[in-house]
Amino acid sequence: MKNYKNILAIVFLAISIVAFNACSKDQVIVPASSTGNTNSGGGGTSSGNTGSTGQEVGQNGEITLYKVNGDNIEKIKDYKVTGVDLEYQKDVAKHNQIWDLVKKVVPKNQRDKMGQFVIYSGQKAGSAGFVAEIKSDLSSWIMGIAIDSAFDGGFNAGGELVYTIIHEFGHILTLEKSQVDSSITQENCTNYFPGEGCAQENSYINELHNKYWKDIWSEYKAAQADQNAQQSFYDKYKDRYVTQYASTNPGEDIAEVFATFVTRKEKPSGNTIAEKKILLMYNRSELIEFRDHIRKNLKLRGKGNSVAFKLPEPGKWKQANTFGNPFKTKCRRH
Ligand SMILES: [Zn+2]
Repeated sequence: MKNYKNILAIVFLAISIVAFNACSKDQVIVPASSTGNTNSGGGGTSSGNTGSTGQEVGQNGEITLYKVNGDNIEKIKDYKVTGVDLEYQKDVAKHNQIWDLVKKVVPKNQRDKMGQFVIYSGQKAGSAGFVAEIKSDLSSWIMGIAIDSAFDGGFNAGGELVYTIIHEFGHILTLEKSQVDSSITQENCTNYFPGEGCAQENSYINELHNKYWKDIWSEYKAAQADQNAQQSFYDKYKDRYVTQYASTNPGEDIAEVFATFVTRKEKPSGNTIAEKKILLMYNRSELIEFRDHIRKNLKLRGKGNSVAFKLPEPGKWKQANTFGNPFKTKCRRH
């Protein structure tokens, strides 16, 4: 009986590991066959999962998958969907409207890092946006935007969609190839290890971790036990985080710091650690350039739009006062 229990425990552990893995790659929807990549097929749709039409059924609410080609997106495939998602699938104008906003946020030289773009159902996936690597060397990424969230209350209502795009691209910016070396394992990594690989010495996330996470790392780890512990940790170290969500883990922290850096009009004075984190970004000229690009571009009026694209007030986005999954470095969930 005891043996039996042990076996059960091992099986449970194995399942948990798989679940965490799937979680860190959750919402990865790119089948290996369409990209030839080796890394992110896990958790994605299986090629066997096709209906009688031969169309693939997405595992995470996928609606339409695109390839990014410079300024344009080219359809790779429509997933098999029904009901309201089918309406969203047919409404290609809405897909393009979202893509146009992504282009305003992400300049061409940064957009090279995005190989694919996917429109999906936020209601099914439980998130407003996500990114995931589609090449194991972290040189190419997919960005997903939930079409129902994007049009919730009107296109980009309250600046939520813009914020989502900035936050999500913040993940790509801080986890891509030049920042994180995916060929180095955790055992061999002497810098911060976000999960995708080993952070480069001079990377944004390694600097953030070294300066503002290392000293409280054991407390942070202990606080992952449950939500109450997470809450106490956040209450204790509130002045370190630009939002509650940022205290989820260093990956979410840096995406939130980047989004706050972009959306906050004034340069902070650096009175709190949260502000000092924003100032780290002001120390990097390429990030100031990126910020200026986004702010200038969003002030331009889109064709037929009577108002410029709105930015949300810093810290006011819908998930600001929640915790994310501490085991995921780069997704957002409701
Ligand atoms: Zn995130």
